[in-house]
Amino acid sequence: RARPDDDLLRGLNPPQREAVTYRGPALLIVAGAGSGKTSVLTRRIASLLRSREAWPSQILAITFTNKAAGEMRERVGQLVGDVVRGMWISTFHSACVRILRREADQFGFTKNFTIYDSGDSRALVKRLVKEHEADAYGMTPASVQGRISKLKNELADAESFARQANMSDPAERLFAAIFADYQRALQRANAFDFDDLIAQTVYLFRAFPAVADTYRRRFRHILVDEYQDTNHAQYALIHELTRAPGSDAAPTEHGGLMIFDAPSDEPGALLTVVGDSDQSIYAFRGADIRNISEFERDFPGAKVVLLEQNYRSTQNILSAANAVISHNFDRKDKKLWTDVGAGDAIIGFTGYSQHDEAQFVADEIEALHRAGAPYSEMAVFYRTNSQSRALEEIFIRSAVPYKIMGGTKFYERAEIKDAMAYLIAVANPADELSVRRILNKPRRGIGDVTETAIARYAAEEGITFRDALANASALGVGPKIQQAIAQLDAVLAEASEIMLPSSGEIAPPTSVAEGLTLLLNKSGYADALRRSKDPQDEARVENLDELVAVTREFARNNPEGTLLDFLTEVALVSDADDLDDASGSVSLMTMHTAKGLEYDAVFVTGVEEDLIPHRISAGEPGGPQEERRLFYVAITRARKRLHLSLAMTRAQFGEVSVAMPSRFLQEIPHELIDWRQSPGDVNSRGGMQSRALNARRPGGGFGGGGSRYGDDLVPLPRRERPAGDVTKFANRIPAKIRDNGDLELAAGDRIRHDDFGEGRVDMVTGEGAKRVAHVRFDSAGAKKLLIKVAPITKL
Ligand code: ATP
Ligand code: MG
Repeated sequence: RARPDDDLLRGLNPPQREAVTYRGPALLIVAGAGSGKTSVLTRRIASLLRSREAWPSQILAITFTNKAAGEMRERVGQLVGDVVRGMWISTFHSACVRILRREADQFGFTKNFTIYDSGDSRALVKRLVKEHEADAYGMTPASVQGRISKLKNELADAESFARQANMSDPAERLFAAIFADYQRALQRANAFDFDDLIAQTVYLFRAFPAVADTYRRRFRHILVDEYQDTNHAQYALIHELTRAPGSDAAPTEHGGLMIFDAPSDEPGALLTVVGDSDQSIYAFRGADIRNISEFERDFPGAKVVLLEQNYRSTQNILSAANAVISHNFDRKDKKLWTDVGAGDAIIGFTGYSQHDEAQFVADEIEALHRAGAPYSEMAVFYRTNSQSRALEEIFIRSAVPYKIMGGTKFYERAEIKDAMAYLIAVANPADELSVRRILNKPRRGIGDVTETAIARYAAEEGITFRDALANASALGVGPKIQQAIAQLDAVLAEASEIMLPSSGEIAPPTSVAEGLTLLLNKSGYADALRRSKDPQDEARVENLDELVAVTREFARNNPEGTLLDFLTEVALVSDADDLDDASGSVSLMTMHTAKGLEYDAVFVTGVEEDLIPHRISAGEPGGPQEERRLFYVAITRARKRLHLSLAMTRAQFGEVSVAMPSRFLQEIPHELIDWRQSPGDVNSRGGMQSRALNARRPGGGFGGGGSRYGDDLVPLPRRERPAGDVTKFANRIPAKIRDNGDLELAAGDRIRHDDFGEGRVDMVTGEGAKRVAHVRFDSAGAKKLLIKVAPITKL
């Protein structure tokens, strides 16, 4: 007889099946990359629903990014249909926002609270550091912000810090004061920072057992992906949620005896966590591998399932990954295997400069694309965001369509922040930061003096900045400024009528778009940009249009979405997330963002000492090991093709330095890598003067290179500037992109390209600024060039 589960189990190996079907209070699935952890979690959810062991509303599934949550939701939806809508599949942060929005009024906030991203909280910390003159103690906004964040991840609040700190130390006293002020400012602004979202939810549960119980009764199944990257606060949250309802009830006293209520006969939620301690890459954010290694202690009787078969990558890729990670000590050895066969060799390339490296990546992508691989199945990874610039430059010229993931960039633009501040000022008038941000944007003649006076007045009276603003006349500001303030106030009020209708009414989904348009127009903000002669402002207007388009799309996707929902979504857009998808483009991202994802072809770039492992990690305890795990994460994303590349010289911050191949390259058995151009090749051809790179050993091999670097090589200090012609290569491609304007090109035309020489145009596609020439070069082969920017001349 067919069980409802049958098709869910089809194709799974025995331990995977067990992970889907096991029923018990606690289940830990530990396994290496690509062994099906996330897939198993998804099927487990479907199995719980199909067997009617759980209602959709009883399931809470936690993933690491919104993107991962979206994918899981889609996959569960395919297995069980529409009921997926009632489930909470989300990140820790968005689950906590949902809880906090419901419960905020229990503890001195209101449900329209603002979420401060790290830029917002940096701005607040900066102001406090200045006010307290803390720079005299060597404190910077960054260091203070980092320390507060760390404390919050450990669930230490300002009071508990003050109790434990050494308060005879003036620096500690000062920090404690800043921390307390910071928290007070958040409270006054009705705002939570990112770390608060988790920590305050834990405090809420601990302070209000009855509230905690409603969620404990509600969520009967809690499933957590990427458990190795949970920090203490997240761990505590899971613990709070899995406790038996009623277990917090205080004992009552009867005639001197403490009577504990009979232990509740309602069991706690069933917990499933999956993780891989080799992929723990967030120690710097307080992630604690011990959460995984001590799971069995925390949950006695927990079932542990190990998965060892990898379904993602070829054996060559896995062998490289196994070899690298085995250099970490202190780990349980687990070997991944696959039955898909050896596959292609890993391809290595050493560029003279980062542009040269980027050109290799672009050419390789084009070659794969011509051979039928879709762009969306290719990804390029780097260690630091700044490395993307050279790649972008070359991709633009070569007309490789790409998309930067982790592009919170859009929301970091000043004009977008301004527009968002207008929306937040409507949603949460208590948010001082936002109201102050728009106070004089566009210019209304409201200067610093007035602003400071209003802020002081608000603090003295214990009222919000916005309320103080409304009383500006009491502060003796001039009539012109009063009028400007009144106008701003009127615009905000008008927008709030559209976006926040009185209780009982439901705002139509388009209200956010309408409200935003009204704010931008009636405030004069958009007009000021349109009138400006600065060409940058033209782009800013386009960006604002884009934001309006985002609100429209939001309305389409969330017919019941409110202004608060929109603000939440934007605030939680994190590293791996983008509101629009990357279909049809190559994805560029940092190695951290790559977690959990997979692509047919992966390019790991900048495989150099000081980048991976990163320079700053060298001195940190456990730093190099964490970097090795990060590299392991990066290479295990590849299904079929893995490319490892580096540049022998790298221009950063206006300086050219010589780079050394990463030690992780040496940890990969060299027969696995097919070097198109090895570090040795570059050394001999490039005529570089690096003593380390000239060290050769007979018989050593970097593939075809004929030279090698051995264990005896000492990395050159990065800042050492080599003699000779290194910069020639670094400068081979001018940093400034050319603007060809309206260069007319048609099939049959002959052109000359600065790097590729002469060639013939086969075809021109696209329009306007996106016109692309498909050129067959006489010696460099077929290339696509973005006409507007390519360094070409028509012959
Ligand atoms: P990571 O550690 O990178 O998060 P993971 O352990 O979560 O990886 P998944 O992403 O779930 O692994 O699976 C990796 C790939 O293997 C996916 O493409 C998935 O569809 C496939 N896969 C998993 N299990 C099986 C199976 N039994 N048969 C065929 N393919 C499978
Ligand atoms: Mg996974």
